[in-house]
Amino acid sequence: MGTKRVSVWFMLLWAALMGAHTPAPAQTPLLVRLVVLGEERQTDPPPVLRDGVVFAPVDQAFVPYRAAVRWDPVERVAEVTGARGEQVVLRANDPFATVGGELRRMPAAPFLAADRLMVPVEFVYRFLGAWTKWEPSEQALHVASQVLRLVFERSASGVRLLVEATGPVQARTVKLREPDRLVIDLLHAASRIETQEQEIGEGGVRRIRVAQFQIKPYVTRVVLELETPLEAEVQEGPGFDLVIRLRSEPVAETTPPPTLTEPSPERSSSGVRDVPRILEVRAAREVGRVRVTVLGDRPLGFRESTLRDPPRLVVDLPGIFVPVKQELAVGGPVEVVRAAQFQADPPITRVVVQWQKPAPYRILLENEGRSVVILVEEAEPPRPPRTDHVVALDPGHGGTDPGAIGVTGLLEKDVVLDVALRLRAFLRQRGVRVVMTREADVFVDLAERVPIALRAGATVFVSIHANASTQGTVRGVETYYLRPDSVTLATFIQEELGRSLGIPDRGIRTANFKVLRDSPVPAVLVEIGYLTSPEDEALLRTPEFRERVAQAIGWGILRFLRVAPLLRRDGKAPAW
Ligand code: ZN
Repeated sequence: MGTKRVSVWFMLLWAALMGAHTPAPAQTPLLVRLVVLGEERQTDPPPVLRDGVVFAPVDQAFVPYRAAVRWDPVERVAEVTGARGEQVVLRANDPFATVGGELRRMPAAPFLAADRLMVPVEFVYRFLGAWTKWEPSEQALHVASQVLRLVFERSASGVRLLVEATGPVQARTVKLREPDRLVIDLLHAASRIETQEQEIGEGGVRRIRVAQFQIKPYVTRVVLELETPLEAEVQEGPGFDLVIRLRSEPVAETTPPPTLTEPSPERSSSGVRDVPRILEVRAAREVGRVRVTVLGDRPLGFRESTLRDPPRLVVDLPGIFVPVKQELAVGGPVEVVRAAQFQADPPITRVVVQWQKPAPYRILLENEGRSVVILVEEAEPPRPPRTDHVVALDPGHGGTDPGAIGVTGLLEKDVVLDVALRLRAFLRQRGVRVVMTREADVFVDLAERVPIALRAGATVFVSIHANASTQGTVRGVETYYLRPDSVTLATFIQEELGRSLGIPDRGIRTANFKVLRDSPVPAVLVEIGYLTSPEDEALLRTPEFRERVAQAIGWGILRFLRVAPLLRRDGKAPAW
């Protein structure tokens, strides 16, 4: 976008604003710009600003994000389906959208203009996973993809970098010499990566650095500091993810190594195909931890134990075969990971994580249960949580206020208090100072909760609730925030909940809850499940599930404390 165009737009705006000879009604829409993935989106009719909200025609606004749109002109309903499966249904003159099957209020209702449905663009784009930013000086809404995570992996197929993105991202690689570096620019990508620098020390890569190199258009820059010159080959992965394979120069022209350690085709064709089996075992070093992923062709179960001499973690996966014995050298807190058939009938695959010394670990089920993920934490994380934080935990309701009531009578006030007390223990064990707005079954006025926390020096506020719906089929966890300074906290907590509970991940959302409104420090409200769902309620009755909820929230908070900036203690929000 050149300055010339901007000035033209300014003139148009000026005309629109100043055309006051004929007093315009207060709601006259202003023409604005919609810039998606660095390119101005020309739509018919053009995007407008109305009541402070940018609207654009539903059939054209989301094309660059590869969303599919169905518009029913008779029912006046539009259905936007993102490339990753997110779905938003919008109706003319109705301020409620259906998002993932649930009604959500939009900032303003879609309306018809020249037979097109004009919809609140930012609302829809956020549900598609996009980063959005309104630039008042340009009267432009910018939309970018987000890079959530970079994972350096060593697998049977070699060394690679996985880029997890929420929208279309283009990678541009540049090789630099003396010292050898590989620069990977991720175009149209806003970086949401917490780690800015990571020591690797294997596969020819010394260190990885990540930064938001540029905005407008957004560029996330990844720099690999190399020990030996490497070539990068970029491939598209699932969804919008990118797989960047790294190998020594010159590029070997032999067939690429197999990505999956599947049984050979001969065996598959002779009837082995339907045998439950492990598809892949991989190990990745992340900041402060090692991630071991065991991918099965169906949902997996596991049993864990730890053994001595040598110290190791043993994870048995019953009912499944591993076609090829695996051994991966890892580094960091984990020396080697092995996977082998421990028993044939009934089958048990045994995964052994041999570590230097017993380390804190977690085992999660991801990928609809098909991936068993073992996270081994380094004994001394590179960036420990700041010790000057005080985390306020706010168990909702209490005393005469039971909150939501479960299908078989479980009370919200009881389950959230138990989870909060478990979470307090988890955080205190890790040296984090915690204050509670209540630690017993007592009534605490809603207006008093944030003041109680602030008087105790809180720098982070986490409210814990359990949800209710008129539909018993609604399940899952969600995390609410209100202000931008709380997005990261909400994201981390929700990510941990989503990957460790095995119930639907309903994502992060904004809501104007009183405690979020009142809090001058980063604040979120976590809904840990639906008491109106028989499945969720049954889980929430068990101590094991409550502990998992508490730990997931705890890990999210710890991640946040590692990246949260220095806080001011004058009760004002930190400068972000
Ligand atoms: Zn509640």
